[in-house]
Amino acid sequence: MGNYVDVLKAIGGDRLELGPAAGTLDGEAGTCWRRRRGTDGIEWLLLDLPGSSANLVNQQMLTELDRHLADIERGRPKALVIRSAKRNGFIAGADVNQFRGVTGASALEADLAKAHAIVDRLAASSMPTIAVIHGFCLGGGLELALACRYRIAIPNAFLGFPEVQLGLHPGLGGTARLTRLISPVDAMSMILTGRRKFAKAALAAGLVDVVTEERHVAAAVAAAAAGKVRSRAKSSRAAIVNLAPVRWIAAAAMRRSVRDRARPDHYPAPYAAIDLWSRHGGSAPRLRHAEIGSFARLCTGQTAQNLIGVFLLRERMKSSADRAAPIRHVHVIGAGTMGADIAAWCALKGKSVTLADTKLEALAKAMGRAHRLFDHETHSSIERRDVVDRLMPDLRGTGVARADLVIEAVPENLDLKRKIHSGLEDRIKESAILATNTSSIRLEDIATALKRPERLVGIHFFNPVARMQLVEVIHGEHSSQDAVASSARFVADIDRLPAQVRSAPGFLVNRALMPYLLEALLLLDEKVPKEAIDQAAEEFGMPVGPLALADEVGLDICLDVAKMLKKNLSQPVADLPAWFEEKVASGQLGKKTGKGFYDYHDGKAVKSKPTGRPDAAFVDRLILPMLNACAACLREKVVAASDTVDGALIFGAGFAPFRGGPMTYARSRGHADIRKTLEGLAAQHGPRFAPDPYWGEQSGG
Ligand code: NAD
Repeated sequence: MGNYVDVLKAIGGDRLELGPAAGTLDGEAGTCWRRRRGTDGIEWLLLDLPGSSANLVNQQMLTELDRHLADIERGRPKALVIRSAKRNGFIAGADVNQFRGVTGASALEADLAKAHAIVDRLAASSMPTIAVIHGFCLGGGLELALACRYRIAIPNAFLGFPEVQLGLHPGLGGTARLTRLISPVDAMSMILTGRRKFAKAALAAGLVDVVTEERHVAAAVAAAAAGKVRSRAKSSRAAIVNLAPVRWIAAAAMRRSVRDRARPDHYPAPYAAIDLWSRHGGSAPRLRHAEIGSFARLCTGQTAQNLIGVFLLRERMKSSADRAAPIRHVHVIGAGTMGADIAAWCALKGKSVTLADTKLEALAKAMGRAHRLFDHETHSSIERRDVVDRLMPDLRGTGVARADLVIEAVPENLDLKRKIHSGLEDRIKESAILATNTSSIRLEDIATALKRPERLVGIHFFNPVARMQLVEVIHGEHSSQDAVASSARFVADIDRLPAQVRSAPGFLVNRALMPYLLEALLLLDEKVPKEAIDQAAEEFGMPVGPLALADEVGLDICLDVAKMLKKNLSQPVADLPAWFEEKVASGQLGKKTGKGFYDYHDGKAVKSKPTGRPDAAFVDRLILPMLNACAACLREKVVAASDTVDGALIFGAGFAPFRGGPMTYARSRGHADIRKTLEGLAAQHGPRFAPDPYWGEQSGG
C-alpha cells in the first residue's frame, strides 16, 4: 500500500501524455473510452471509466472496446495505443463485484468466452498495438496489456496478477499469454504468489519492452509504431519450458512449494493454475480455452466467494468514515512497546507526530526502533528523510497543545490513565480527540475523570502495529459520534482497518480469542501434545495454532486479559490452570523471552511433528468457543454487524480468511448445527460451552 502512495505522489507532478488533442473523438457521457488520432496516423484509445476513481475491467468497457476495435480496424491507423486517462494507474484489475454471488459456472463460462473473444481480437490485430502503462497494471488490466504487441512502461508502473489472493487465477487469457511471453517459471511464480513487478524488473523479465519517463512517451510510441522497438519477450527460451516433460517436472516442483504454504482443500486456486499449465501449457489456444472452465469452477466455489467477500469487506472497512474531520498532528504519550510503534507508524503514514515519555531512555529506544522500521518501509532517501522529520521525541510534552489527536499508551493502570487524561483536558485544542490504547479498562472509568468525556475514545492497536491491520475504535457511553467517526477515519488514513466496537470487557477481538486460548490450556492439562493442539487449529485454517499465538502475544498479556474477562463477564469462563500463572511468574512469557509453550531459536519455534490428523470434535472444541463469544458480542451489541465481526477476526486474529470470517462460517455451517454441537460439548465438558442465545434467536442461516 505504501507503494501506491509513492506512485500517486510520483505521478502527481507529471502531465500524462494522452496523444494529440486535435482529432479527439470524445466518448458519449457515461462511456468508458475516448479516442484521438493525430496526423501521424497513430490512434490513441484512452480508458477513463465513468464514476470510478480507478479503471477496472468490466463488461461495459469490454463491449465498448470491441466496438472501437472494429471501427479502428476499418480506419487502418498506423498503430493503436491503449492507455489510461486516469492519473493513478492503468487498470486496477477486474471489477470483483461482478463475481460476487455468482453460482452458475456455465453462465460465467459463456460471459468469459465473450470477453476472451474481444481480447483475442486485440491480440490478433495486424496493426502494431501498444499499451502505455503507468501506476498499477493488475489482473485483467495486465491481461489486456499482454494482448498488445508492445508494452511501454513509465518507471512508476507495477504489473501483477493478484487473483490468487481472491482464490482465483487469471481468467482473461493471462495464464497462456504470460507463460508464452516470459520465462514460464517466472510467469507461474507471478500467478502463484500474486507478487508484482515494478517497471525495471518487468523490463528485465521481458514483460515490458521499454521503460521511459512520461515526457518521452510520445517518442517511444512513435518508435514502436515504426517497428523500431525490439520486443524483450523471452519467447524462445519460454518455448522449451512449455514443452512436456520439462513442463511436468517444473509443475511438480511448483506443487511441492505451494503445498508448504497452502492446503489444496483450503486454497485450491494455485493448484488449479499449476494443473492448467501442466496439462495445457503446450498449446496457447488450448490453455486459453481451458482457463475459462477452470476460472469458472474456482469462482463459483466457496473459497473464492469467501475471499471476494473479505476483499469487499476490507474496502468497506476502509471507507466507513469518509466524512470526518482530518487529523494531521498526533501526540503519543508513553514510548513503550505500543506507543513507540504507534508513533512510528503514524509518521510513516504521513502524520506529524510528537512522542512523549517520562523516561529519556524509553524515548531513545523508541526512536531507534522507529528508524529501523523506516529503513525497512521507505523506498528512497528523500522519503526516509521526510518520515524521520515527521517524528519528534517530546520529553516535555509540548506537542499536546498542537495535536488533533492524543493517544495515551502508558501502562495498564486505571489511576495512572485517569490522572494523565484529566491533566490533558485543559491543554489540548478545543477540537482535539483524546484516545487511550487500553486493552482492558472500561472507557467509562477513565471518562469520570474528565469534564468533557465526549472527546474520549479508545483506539486499540494490536501488537505488532506494523503487521496487525486491525484497529478497534472503541466508543464509551459518553464518546461523541464526531470523535468516533474522526478516529475511524484516522485509522483508515494510516492504512489500518477500523472496526467500531462498544466499550465492553475485552472489546471484541480479545474477548473472542480468550476462550480459544483457554481451551488450548485445558487440552494441555488433558495431556494432549501442544503440537497436536496447534495442528487442529491449523487444520481448520488458522495461520498459527492457539499456543503459538499465545507465545506471540505474550503469556503475561494473555494472563491479564483472561483474569480481567473472568472477573467481568457474566458468561462462564474456564478456570486458569495454576501452572500457567507459575509459568508467567517464572518469566516464561513466550517468544519475547525465548521460551513459552515453545522454545525459540532465532525467533523461530522449535516444534516436533504431530502424528495423525485431529478429528472434527477436537477442532470444534477450540473454534466454537470463539464463535460463541462473537455471537455474544453481537447479541450484546458490542458490535453492530456480523460483517464487523468477520473483518475484525480476520484482520485482527488471522481467522481463516477462506472461510469468510467466523460469522460467515457459522452461517454456512448453520446456526442450528453450531447450537447443537455446543450443547453436546457443554454436556461433556461443562457450562463454558453453553450456546449463546444468539444461535437460537436467528433463523439458522
Ligand atoms: P509499556 O510498559 O511497554 O510502555 C509504557 C510506557 O509508558 C513506558 O515507556 C513508560 O515509561 C511510559 N510512561 C509511564 N508513565 C508515564 C507518564 N506518566 N507519562 C508518559 N509516559 C509514561 O506498555 P505497553 O505494552 O506499550 O502498553 C501500553 C498500553 O497499551 C496499555 O494500556 C496496554 O494495555 C495497551 N496494549 C498493549 C499491547 C501489548 O501487546 N503490549 C497490545 C494492545 C494494547
